[in-house]
Amino acid sequence: MTETNHHQSHILGFPRIGSHRQAKKAVESYWREEISLAELEKVGQQIEEHNWKLQADAGLDYVTVGDFSWYDHVLDTSALLGVIPERFGKHNGKVDINTIFCMARGQAPKVQETTACEMTKWFNTNYHYIVPEFTEQQTFHLASDVLFNAIDRAQAKGYQVKPVLLGPLTYLWLGKTKGKDFDKLTLLKKLLPVYQEIINQLNAKKIHWVQIDEPILILDLPKAWQDAFVEVYKQLDFKQVKSLLATYFGGLEDNLAVVKKLPVDGVHLDVSADAEQLSQLAAQIPADKIISAGVISGRNIWKADLNKLSQVLHDAKKTLGARLWIATGSSLLHTPVDLDNETKLDAELKNWLAFATQKVHEVAVLANILNQGQTSFSRELSENQAALQSRQHSTRIHNATVQQRLASLTKQYAERKNAYAKRALAQHKVLKLPLLPTTTIGSFPQTKEIRVIRQDFKAGHIDAQTYIQKIREQIADVIKRQEHLDLDVLVHGEAERNDMVEYFGELLQGFAFTSNGWVQSYGSRCVKPPIIFGDVYRPKPMTVEWSQYAQSLTKRPVKGMLTGPVTILAWSFVRDDQPHATTALQIALALRDEVVDLEKAGINVIQIDEPAFREALPLRKNHWQEYLDWAVHCFRVSASGVQDETQIHTHMCYSEFNDVIDSIAKLDADVITIESSRSEMELLKAFESFSYPNEIGPGVYDIHSPRVPSSPEIVTQLENAIKYVPIARLWVNPDCGLKTRNWPEVEQALTNMVSAAKSLRTKYNQESASLEELPSREA
Ligand code: GLN
Ligand code: ZN
Repeated sequence: MTETNHHQSHILGFPRIGSHRQAKKAVESYWREEISLAELEKVGQQIEEHNWKLQADAGLDYVTVGDFSWYDHVLDTSALLGVIPERFGKHNGKVDINTIFCMARGQAPKVQETTACEMTKWFNTNYHYIVPEFTEQQTFHLASDVLFNAIDRAQAKGYQVKPVLLGPLTYLWLGKTKGKDFDKLTLLKKLLPVYQEIINQLNAKKIHWVQIDEPILILDLPKAWQDAFVEVYKQLDFKQVKSLLATYFGGLEDNLAVVKKLPVDGVHLDVSADAEQLSQLAAQIPADKIISAGVISGRNIWKADLNKLSQVLHDAKKTLGARLWIATGSSLLHTPVDLDNETKLDAELKNWLAFATQKVHEVAVLANILNQGQTSFSRELSENQAALQSRQHSTRIHNATVQQRLASLTKQYAERKNAYAKRALAQHKVLKLPLLPTTTIGSFPQTKEIRVIRQDFKAGHIDAQTYIQKIREQIADVIKRQEHLDLDVLVHGEAERNDMVEYFGELLQGFAFTSNGWVQSYGSRCVKPPIIFGDVYRPKPMTVEWSQYAQSLTKRPVKGMLTGPVTILAWSFVRDDQPHATTALQIALALRDEVVDLEKAGINVIQIDEPAFREALPLRKNHWQEYLDWAVHCFRVSASGVQDETQIHTHMCYSEFNDVIDSIAKLDADVITIESSRSEMELLKAFESFSYPNEIGPGVYDIHSPRVPSSPEIVTQLENAIKYVPIARLWVNPDCGLKTRNWPEVEQALTNMVSAAKSLRTKYNQESASLEELPSREA
């Protein structure tokens, strides 16, 4: 094929878990030392070869190589560049796989156990990467052949190989400094020679195009980093290899001015995330550069509108001619592997979906249409249109009652009857809680016994009645334990929940579940997000019976427990045929009904968890307000159907609040519990300067570790908190749910927590929080 009049096609990367999670199974056996390294490598090579063949067979011009990883591609980049923290031993030559696993997990076959590297979220996805660690004296050297070996294997099979590298600036950006803080950009002069060496090797291998991922170009970048892009890409000498600079997950916006100047041979844009940027860059990019248009989303599971996209591509072609390439928006890493593995989804729904394998074909069809004209592909196009039509008109998706209800919402739906100060008085009368009330975040240890009960029910080994009975026994057990611990506000323990989103998705209309739709979350961990395909409503109460039963066993208040609209949305694949805000509002209304029903059933305290509230923030600041507006609105809609007497709690598990604190206050929850123990109450300072208006329970100990905190330690934490929050508005609780812990740890930690609260009650010499004595605050 000649490049002069042929539109080329490729993908940015393919899932690496294998069609049946072979990678997970193999790597976990290897960690348990059940299989050898050779056996492990064989599994990996099979997955890679399958992925390459898929791309080649579909007719893509390149197969992407270097997207496979046993754990994480950022970690692999650290190995490639010799960035191995000292605690993992000296590595002047090549880094072995066990060292890489040890960096990820703190342990691996045949190496000394040590503290693992940190892990954090990859942009706005639910994928997590291993954070590189840089010291001021950091050195770099080429320390891995994995990429080059993969290229050799793919070339030996006759494929046109396009390797993918994580670019130097994104790599540095993602890392953190260790020891003394310093400007990471100062490392460039030592880092670039290693990148140059890699490029030289690609030249030796006669690589035609290399994909260099620089996704930070869709973020708000400081000027120094924007300038560094120009410097870095001027300095790197690609020689015969052509460079495709890949951006994804958003639009270039102000970085477009930077990108158009870069001496690269092509730029990849995520058109599926920001459509505007294609024509903008096409109008400005020099005539010797190509643009790769990422029109097929790497983030959702919906069939693309091929007619519409071929129109978009035809428009771009007018400016770019054959300099227009066709691609996925991002790597397909964030989508499940193959829709053909779904045997339980009904045909209608399945016809609306495309997983990674199907998306490869969508890219190929679009390229074919562009290269050969629509007429040769009329069958593909008409099938695609029929699928989209069926989705557009299906009564399973469009529910008139839900839509009418949304249309008729008034402002009042987002307002409690009275302001917090007045509600607090009413709640105080009903709940009669002591000063520094103690509670937990919802879940108690998910024991083997509990998991077996749920599995048996799911598999049909026990009937519904037996199931209810067994879960009730679990509830009774946790109520008894909590009374014994002398906690003030109890929970039912969440034994019936496998997952805080899946549980609600299964009980709401508009959700579907796959049997094999796994997506990598981190390392060998995969998740199977629900699919929100249609208008959401609640056919019947979802949690009321469990909560009511729990409440019937005790005189103390039992807290109802729900997952909030933003979190349900953030951890699902969401429909793309209406704004996310609309889908969130539908979920909010379903939850509102649940909240009202809980109240009617005698539940006076209801918690709506929003752990994803902050992580769902858009990547760029100029998009924040729009998100925060609807996210806050949705929470308020779900919480505002109740009387003043009903106390609404929310829970969020992260500690960086400063940038969204206004919005968190606007949620107007009566009580918020948050993670804070790991930052030693640092975050409370944020609350102090803002003067958080309602009640707050800063987690007094870290549940992520098995360590049991002592009572004096908790007293210190609380004394610290009292400096910032008036004592009458302070709650005492762990920093997150306890489902991952075991009972002995939990019993001991909560015993210490309750005794810390009690000793402070005595010290502050108040039997109960008298609201009249509260410092005055605005209503
Ligand atoms: N209520 C949930 C639990 O206790 C909250 C989990 C979370 O914050 N992620 O498990
Ligand atoms: Zn939490």
